[in-house]
Amino acid sequence: MRIYLDCIPCFIRQSLDAARHATKDVNIHEKVVRGVLGLANNMDTRKPPPVIGQKIHRLIRELAGAEDPYHDVKQQFNNAALKLYPRMRRLITESENPLETAVRLAIAGNIIDFGVKSTLQVAELEKAISRCLSEKSADMQIGAFRKAIEDSENILYLADNAGEIVFDRLLIEQLPTEKITVAVKGSPVINDATMEDAVTAGLHKIVEVIDNGSDAPGTVLESCSRSFRDHFEEADLVIAKGQGNYETLSGLNKNMFFMLQAKCPVISRNIGCDIGEMILQKAKTFDGSKENTRPRKVVIVGGVAGGASAAARLRRLDEDTEIVLFERGKYISFANCGLPYYIGKVITNRDDLLVQTPEKFKARFNIDVRVNSEVTEIDRKNKRVMVKDLSSTETYSEKYDTLILSPGAEPARPPIEGIDSSRIFTLRSIPDADAINNFIAEQQPKRAVVVGGGYIGLEMAENLRNRGMLVAIVEMLDQVMPTLDKEMAASLHEHLHEQSVALWLGDGVAGFRQTNSTLIVALKSGMEISCDMAVLAIGVKPEVGLAKQAGLEIGITGGIKVDERLRTSDRDIFAVGDAIEVEHFVLKRAALIPLAGPANRQGRIAADNVAGRNVKYKGTQGTAVLKVFELTVAMTGATEKELKKTEIEHEKVYIHPANHVGYYPGAHQMHIKILFNKPEGRLLGAQIVGKEGVDKRIDVFATAIRCGLTVFDLQDLELAYAPPYGSGKDPINMAGFAAGNILDRTADIRHFEQLDGNDFLLDVRSPAEVARGRIKGALNIPVNQVRKKLDELPQDKAVNIYCAVGIRSYIASRILKQKGFDARSLPGGYSTYLARTSEKLLEGKTGRQLRDEFCTGF
Ligand code: FAD
Repeated sequence: MRIYLDCIPCFIRQSLDAARHATKDVNIHEKVVRGVLGLANNMDTRKPPPVIGQKIHRLIRELAGAEDPYHDVKQQFNNAALKLYPRMRRLITESENPLETAVRLAIAGNIIDFGVKSTLQVAELEKAISRCLSEKSADMQIGAFRKAIEDSENILYLADNAGEIVFDRLLIEQLPTEKITVAVKGSPVINDATMEDAVTAGLHKIVEVIDNGSDAPGTVLESCSRSFRDHFEEADLVIAKGQGNYETLSGLNKNMFFMLQAKCPVISRNIGCDIGEMILQKAKTFDGSKENTRPRKVVIVGGVAGGASAAARLRRLDEDTEIVLFERGKYISFANCGLPYYIGKVITNRDDLLVQTPEKFKARFNIDVRVNSEVTEIDRKNKRVMVKDLSSTETYSEKYDTLILSPGAEPARPPIEGIDSSRIFTLRSIPDADAINNFIAEQQPKRAVVVGGGYIGLEMAENLRNRGMLVAIVEMLDQVMPTLDKEMAASLHEHLHEQSVALWLGDGVAGFRQTNSTLIVALKSGMEISCDMAVLAIGVKPEVGLAKQAGLEIGITGGIKVDERLRTSDRDIFAVGDAIEVEHFVLKRAALIPLAGPANRQGRIAADNVAGRNVKYKGTQGTAVLKVFELTVAMTGATEKELKKTEIEHEKVYIHPANHVGYYPGAHQMHIKILFNKPEGRLLGAQIVGKEGVDKRIDVFATAIRCGLTVFDLQDLELAYAPPYGSGKDPINMAGFAAGNILDRTADIRHFEQLDGNDFLLDVRSPAEVARGRIKGALNIPVNQVRKKLDELPQDKAVNIYCAVGIRSYIASRILKQKGFDARSLPGGYSTYLARTSEKLLEGKTGRQLRDEFCTGF
């Protein structure tokens, strides 16, 4: 709860009362009031009132030279309450509902509050007792309170004032005392109870009593001792007495009951009750999870995508937490995704890669950034990390309350022969890019082999071509971009050939050998190829060394295991980014999906949770986009090959629309494949290869998957259209129409891979198109003539129809279906057929010639 304007006169009144308790010296009284006015003038009103209360009472104690101005008052009320204790105890045991009577008495005791009242006579206690016992209060959640006590194992009772603590004892005696710890203030403030008062009340004989290490008149967690904070965090139920505890704790996500008398207008307004009302109320901000306190010091390991996002977000949420960020490298928050383009000289200014510097980060976010600092060990027991300063090789340890790990993933470097050659590079950091650039500048390499056809490999192939080199890609799988289905990768293979990139698919590297100025790459097939340099881009491995050393749980994929809130198996350690195992959003299984978007969002979510919010990470769907020379390739969700390994019933459709209307200049065809479940049609995945307009379509598909939309919903999407940008029926709508037709059986389909030699094939393209290429054995009847030539078609077997992209075959299938034929359209048409069989194209002359360039010069 924040400070309101009405609190300010109360602070002044309270400080004058306290000053008068502390000393008779009116000069000091004046100094106190003036000092408090100064504090009030500069206070941060977003903080709860006890934060300023703590400062005020420290000032008073200091100015008056009195350690405990209310000491005598506290003794007086302890003794008075102890006198009443036997009678109150009898009232409880003789009542019909002892727990409720004890709660009412505990609340009656909350009248002994010198923060709110200037004076109180002992005689008033009796009146308070009878009022609280007889009053029908609106806000007493006794049933829920009883249940919470029964359900909890570890209950923390936050006492409020001296004298009142005797009343608390009466209630505590009605509770399972073995589950209860009582906390009092660490040192005197107003008439709040300290250990001395708990002992006077005899509480130490029946329960464990701890002090909170603080002198704030509430529970300001940041100022409490670590051991108290541990107790607080571990408690599964907190019973918080009095206004100060309500003011400081009511915003937290913690299983808590507040128990108090509403004694001032600010509190009564905040709670929504009358002044004087008895309150036993469950914390409204508790959502059932275990999240709660804010840490005082957060240490972050890794200063790029996930780590830097976490640091900045945490600071935006919490000005007070100390944040220390360790980065092993020289730079933080650099654009690793831009590195291939820096090598290709598309990005020419190296400084443009540095999104943030430690100095800027400090200035804007007040974050203690330490570069060249490697965290080498986590001591979970003592909550410390060991840090090696790589510039001096000194080591030191740093404490944390909460740790966030974002160490990323390292490029895989299998232990094969010759891997340490100075002509072999990997790319993760700016120094890696510098090393490649320096090598190119000094050695003027002519031929480069890129090992691995994933996105980094393809980006490197393009950018090394930009530097004038001949490039070959060696890929173990029979396709590049393993996150595409193979037939969708086919047009990439063709395009790479068009761009003079040689491909060795289905072959891996067995070893390297360096001669004077040449690097020989020995392939598993026995072939040897020669080049001047090689870039290894065969995937990345999550950096889990630190996590393993610390005994954190590692998932089945090899990434750090985290829960939905990105917490590791240690509740004080969070992990994000490439190093963690995520849940695949569509497949609902563990996965490693190293991408910048998820790493950034995870950093933000971890920070939210560290700051006491309750935010879940809902999985990664692998949305990615990539430039391969003149093509754009994009994917989201699950591929067909992944879905085939699951129980999910699914179907697919291919379409090959233009990015915008054909009559506007510059239209280019794109290839779209979508996957959806059966029978509902929920979108499961999408892949697109094309020149333009790919990025905007994939983002619509990605959004549709995230929102659980079906292919029928895609039909309904109203998307922006003007001739330079799209079509009245956007490719997204078209994909929805094609898929919807399959699901509602407007069109029966067959896929090319389901055909065998005996199937009847009808080609409905024009003779000119057929002349450019056809499927052997297919009968050609152009779509407009189908109605006239029905007698040429078989009645006793399925007619499998294809055209160029699937539209005319669908029209023909509708004609034939209505004439009683078993007509099946082949989705995607001849374009898809060609894509499925494109390995044959690779055997063409161009591919061989390109490869020959690498088979010379041994
Ligand atoms: P990183 O960003 O790798 O940061 C981890 C940091 O932690 C590193 O700087 C490392 O030095 C530091 N570190 C590790 N261990 C320690 C330790 N013990 N002590 C101190 N510091 C430590 N993703 C996309 O979505 N789109 C793209 O186009 C794209 N292109 C990419 C191109 C390249 C060349 C590369 C390498 C990656 C690309 N990525 C891309 C992936 C993306 O960069 C990562 O997914 C993202 O950076 C992961 O963030 P992270 O915080 O987990 O790890």
